[in-house]
Amino acid sequence: MNPGIGMKTVQEILVNVDKCTGCRACEMACSAFHSNPQFSSINPAKARIHVVSNELTDEYVPIFAGNHTRSGCDGRHVYTIDGKTYSECSFCRASCPTRENFIEPDSGLALKCDMCESTPPLKQPWCVEVCGEHALVYSEREVEREEPARAAPGQLEVGLQALMKQHGMEAVIARLKDIGKEK
Ligand code: SF4
Ligand code: SF4
Repeated sequence: MNPGIGMKTVQEILVNVDKCTGCRACEMACSAFHSNPQFSSINPAKARIHVVSNELTDEYVPIFAGNHTRSGCDGRHVYTIDGKTYSECSFCRASCPTRENFIEPDSGLALKCDMCESTPPLKQPWCVEVCGEHALVYSEREVEREEPARAAPGQLEVGLQALMKQHGMEAVIARLKDIGKEK
């Protein structure tokens, strides 16, 4: 879709939890699409979608990875759905230091749903494509364009700190120098 002047296209995935069977095909497809090389491996721990599951009560809730947060929040609300108690964290979209969700297990970097950004663009994201139950439905709508958002402060520092923790400062600096030479 080509948005009009002053407009932008917002991409959304609508979730119908009543249709979700907890098959986790969406997690597998997401991790495969984002593996390097693409589709070379499947690892749901690297997916940008996570299905909160309770097999006993047949409740499944797909959650998409949202923004990174540098510290855990104070609030710990509890939700009770059909007699089963869930922590607020279960439904939180953030990658945060207090849990493993949406943290890339190898690099420690935060994972965020990028709507399967691709060139050329996909007709619809992979998680939607593989969801045979149609619990996920892709949609586009036009909204008025806002002022360009600034990058979150400290984002670069968070990424570099995670890389240095994983690989050591010298290895990171050496790799950055190599990349600089390649350009
Ligand atoms: S692929 Fe669809 S039905 Fe299966 S877990 Fe994901 S959202 Fe639910
Ligand atoms: S839209 Fe793409 S990146 Fe986002 S959760 Fe679905 S498969 Fe993963």
